[in-house]
Amino acid sequence: MPDIGEHRLILIGPQGSGKGTQGELLQVYLQIPTISTGQLCRAEIEKGTDIGKSIEGFVHDGALVPDAIVIALLKERIREYDAQEGFIIDGFPRTVEQARDAEGWLHPTKVIVIEISKKLAIDRMSARRACSQCRYKTTASNVGLHGSQCPRCPGKLIQRDDDRPEAIQKRLDMYSAVTEPVVEYYKQTGLAERFNGSLSIPLVFMEIAHVL
Ligand code: AMP
Repeated sequence: MPDIGEHRLILIGPQGSGKGTQGELLQVYLQIPTISTGQLCRAEIEKGTDIGKSIEGFVHDGALVPDAIVIALLKERIREYDAQEGFIIDGFPRTVEQARDAEGWLHPTKVIVIEISKKLAIDRMSARRACSQCRYKTTASNVGLHGSQCPRCPGKLIQRDDDRPEAIQKRLDMYSAVTEPVVEYYKQTGLAERFNGSLSIPLVFMEIAHVL
């Protein structure tokens, strides 16, 4: 049994690397929540809050939301009851500035880096369909099986705005430019563990579980 209270994990990988899926698996394995900053941003937009209105344009365009807003949303989320024994963060830090800021309050125990080629990332993301209401994701080829109905909730399976080809390209360029330096940053601190994301989901999971 893993030592539950010890895990404050950060998941890093380009969109399409499978980090969302690995986050869901790790959440069950370690019994701690996966917290996605993208999801926190989308929730504000869906609720129509003032913050949501101010960040809608950035998220729609695949651009980074201002640091102060993402940091405030994440700090608030990790104060919640279910995160007191640990958490898995997906989507943060995206820049070295965010990583530096996080040193004072996030205290990660490990940074899990999932690597894949740009081509595989684009292929996977163009084929991705997501539920409009829950976190369910599948591929376009499976949407034929379910129609456009989510199999888990009353939501509909759609192509997310930021999974359109123009937005994908922008997000991947942004990943190379601003997030790869974050990987370098964590390599220097000795916290980074790298995994080959082109392997199958269970294999990647087993390799991650092995280092925890
Ligand atoms: P994701 O679901 O992680 O791909 O995030 C979706 C969108 O949320 C991103 O394209 C950004 O607009 C915003 N976002 C998520 N995390 C961050 C972050 N750490 N810094 C800035 N913007 C973020």
